[in-house]
Formats: sequence, C-alpha cells, structure tokens
Amino acid sequence: EHKGRYGPLVGSIDEGTSSVRFLVFAAKNAEVLTYHQKEITQITPHEGWVEQDPMEILEYTKECINQTYENLRRLEIDPGDIVTTGITNQRETTVVWSRTTGKPLYNAIVWLDVRTAETVTQLLKSVRGAKTNMLKHRCGLPLSTYFSATKMKWLLDNVPAVKKAVDEKDCCFGTIDSWLIWNLTGGVDGGKHITDVTNASRTMLMNIKTLKWDPKLLEFFGLPDHILPVIKSSSEIYGLLADTRLKGVPISGCLGDQQAALVGQTCFQQGQAKNTYGTGCFLLYNTGKSLVFSTHGLLTTIAYKMGADEPAIYALEGSIAVAGVAMRWLRDNLKLLNNVQDSRFIAENASEVGEVVFVPAFSGLYAPYWRQDARSVICGITEETSKANIIRAALEAVCFQTRDILEAMNKDCGIPLKTLLVDGGMCANDFLMQQQADLVGIPVVRPSMLETTALGAAMAAGRAKGIEVWGVSENHAVPVDTFLPVLKEDERDYKYSRWKMAIERSLGWSA
Ligand code: ADP
Repeated sequence: EHKGRYGPLVGSIDEGTSSVRFLVFAAKNAEVLTYHQKEITQITPHEGWVEQDPMEILEYTKECINQTYENLRRLEIDPGDIVTTGITNQRETTVVWSRTTGKPLYNAIVWLDVRTAETVTQLLKSVRGAKTNMLKHRCGLPLSTYFSATKMKWLLDNVPAVKKAVDEKDCCFGTIDSWLIWNLTGGVDGGKHITDVTNASRTMLMNIKTLKWDPKLLEFFGLPDHILPVIKSSSEIYGLLADTRLKGVPISGCLGDQQAALVGQTCFQQGQAKNTYGTGCFLLYNTGKSLVFSTHGLLTTIAYKMGADEPAIYALEGSIAVAGVAMRWLRDNLKLLNNVQDSRFIAENASEVGEVVFVPAFSGLYAPYWRQDARSVICGITEETSKANIIRAALEAVCFQTRDILEAMNKDCGIPLKTLLVDGGMCANDFLMQQQADLVGIPVVRPSMLETTALGAAMAAGRAKGIEVWGVSENHAVPVDTFLPVLKEDERDYKYSRWKMAIERSLGWSA
C-alpha cells in the first residue's frame, strides 16, 4: 500500500498558545519528516485581557498543512502516504461563531485572560455559602477565570452579537479543537461540531463521571445546551479534511495539549507523570481509571479515552499559568532579552550577590493557590541586583512552582515521584533543567524527542486507523538527558522558604 520509504505517515496539527504547526510523522519510528510553523498574534486590548483571532488561527493552520504538503513533495515523499491526522490544541481558550455564516462572533478569549475575575466573584456571591471548590465534585475544577464556562458567560453577558446568536440558536461554542475541526471538515457545508473528552473536561460544563454535558453546570452558568459541541473520545474518525491539499484525509485523534504530551511521553501506567514547560507549565499524573479528587489544589481531569468503547483514563493536574510567557515578557516589555534562548547563558552567569525572588502572577496564581487576586512581586532587590538576577529569578519561579505542585501531588497520591519527566519548548534551556533538578531534589529526565505534544495527537489519530505510531502499545527505549540534583538539601530548603515568603507577599498584595 504505502510504497514510500517511510511507510504510513500520520499528520499532526499542533495549535499551541504561541504558535500553530503541522508536522508529519513516520509511524514506524515517530520520526518528524517535515513541518511548518506560524507564530500566532497575541491581542491584548486591556490589562489582563488576552485574545487571538480565530480566523488567523484557521488560516495559519491551513497554511501549515499546505506548506508541509509542499515540503513533502520537495523531499520526494508522497503526501498520499499520510493516512490520517490528529489535532492537539491550547485548552480552555473559547471561540463563538455563527452556525450559518461560519464567522466568529468575537475574538478567541485565551485561557490566560483574567477579564472574568468579576464574573467569578459575582458567581460566588450569587449563592450563599459558595466556595471556589463548590463544583469540583461535578467537574473536577475550581471556579476560576481559567476555564471556558466563565469566558462563555462573559461573552453572553457582554457581547450583543453573541446574545443575539444564542437567542436565535445560531451560536456555536467551542474550544480551539472544535473551531478547527468544524472548519476543516467543511464549516457551513456540513462541518462537524464536536470536541473530545479531554478538551470538554476543561470547560467546567462536562460531568467528570458521566462524561456528558451536565445540566446543573449549564444552569449554574446560565448557558443553553444548543451551543455545545458533541463530546467524542480522543481517538475515532471525526470527519475528513475538506479544503486543504490533504483533502479527504481523516481527522481521527484529538487531545488537549497537556494530555497529548502525557500520551506522547507514553505515560500510560497509573502513577506515571510528566511536566510540560511551554507558555505555562503543567504537571499531569496518570491516576488510571480511578477518579481522584485533590484536597491540595490540583485539578481532576480526563487524561485520554482511546476510542469510543474504551474507558476514560483520569489524571491529576497541577497548572502553572506563567512559565515561558515570562520570558516573552522579559523580552518584549522589559527588553532585558534579545531572544528567549539567551536567558540560559545570562542566568548561568548571574552573580549570587543581588539575588531576587520573582513571583510572576500575571494571571493571578493557579495551582495550588487558585487566587485570582495574587499579584506579581520581585522581592529582595539590592543595589547589586542586575538584569541577570531578574532573568534567573524568572526561570527559578517555574522550578519553585513545580515544587509547590509536586508537594501537593505527593500529599494527594502518597507516593512521591522518583524522577521528573519533562518536555515542552522551554525545556531546551539546560540551565532551567539543572535548576529544576536542584530545586526539587529529584532527577529531571528530558527525552531527546521533544515533540511529545504533536506525537501524542498523532498516536491517538493512528490508533483509530489501526496504525501504531511508535509506542502506543510497546515501550520504546528513548534516548534521554538526565539532570541530577547537586544542590545540598539545606540550601534547597532555604531557597524554597524564600519562595514561600515571596508567595505570601504576592497573595497579600491586594488584601
Ligand atoms: P506553547 O505550546 O505553549 O505554545 P512551546 O512549548 O512552544 O509553548 O514553548 C514556547 C515557550 O517557551 C515560549 O513562551 C518561550 O518564551 C519559551 N521558551 C522557548 N525556548 C526557551 C528557552 N531556550 N529558554 C527559555 N524559554 C524558552
């Protein structure tokens, strides 16, 4: 069938917060044969607001598919060998569009956006005795600006075009996976309005036990059910690509980006975990078929469901809003960096004198604190403090927050992780990796294959077409870099205690 040198190929649309890419994997060894990438424009109309243009995301996605097709031709690889394609996406980011015209009714509200802080406060006030965790037993999540439901409620309450479309039953709601799949499978001409369980589990509208939209949650947020996509598993044929150069190729895998990384790292056993460092940083811990509710500020979420008749696998998640985005802030706002990669060398050479602790709380603080009123602080500035100290502190902040989450996870699960498996764009930074090992006191293991997010989506897609992409069933020996902790325990604990002091100040700022 597939006469090409590489055998069957699987495509992967990787729509992250900072960029969209289309990659092509050789199924037999998960080699990336070629890809195309476009950086997404971040729109920040007001303080704390982060939007993206859904049309730009769609156009760039098609451009990436088409350009990758051209690349394959130039590499003399037959694009006809692409059997199917998967999709993975930034989660929670909310899009609304008209069913009849296909046009977005507003910009996409990005997960980091905090405009719904007031919405959350009002919802908490609306019920006597309401607490942040009051819906957790239903959806696994605390009430927060982070998830899609508050964003959708804000759109309905504040954008007349959305209200009108909802009243006329012409409004489609979706996370980015839904928006792309609807468009790529035909849009107004029969596009499929669907999502997968992992993405649905981030809306606050899906019941975490039944895996169905929950009428009580819809009622709580005042949202009608006719705007919702159909919830599917993470691995089944959803439809066929319509108007790109890969017309007719199925889309058969869909996972939120963090869940895709878990799959790409082959964390299929209960007790396995990975930490992904991108725009934000997310630690997911596989809890198998059992639903574990955290009492220490972690989320309960769906890890994956590999087929319509397969069981759902659950995960505990520690979410950190600000990781790589702080590097972009140092580059673009403070102009302390020419490019984010330089952070490694500058931080390595930072003097011990003038050390500071930086809590970047641009979206409030997520896990384990869940405080939307937290504010960023830089503590301990002296006359000796240089830009290198600030850059280093921004990198260390990610490591300290990871320690916060590991401590919560150890309390919830009882069995401490022995190693930390990592991936994501920011992991290319060796200084960050070494700091991470030093500040948590366990080895950090980085696979040479860093495209785990895109790979996870390709694995889910391949599975629905009977194609094993790499390690779906077997465990492959992956070459890794291991960073061992060298910092003494008392120094590690001293540094962490200073972090906790800075956290107190961040939480106390608005009080
Ligand atoms: P996402 O999937 O969220 O779009 P990526 O995994 O592509 O993110 O990672 C990109 C993020 O990582 C950006 O925010 C960027 O600032 C940061 N980043 C990339 N390379 C480095 C590096 N060498 N050092 C520090 N930060 C980096």
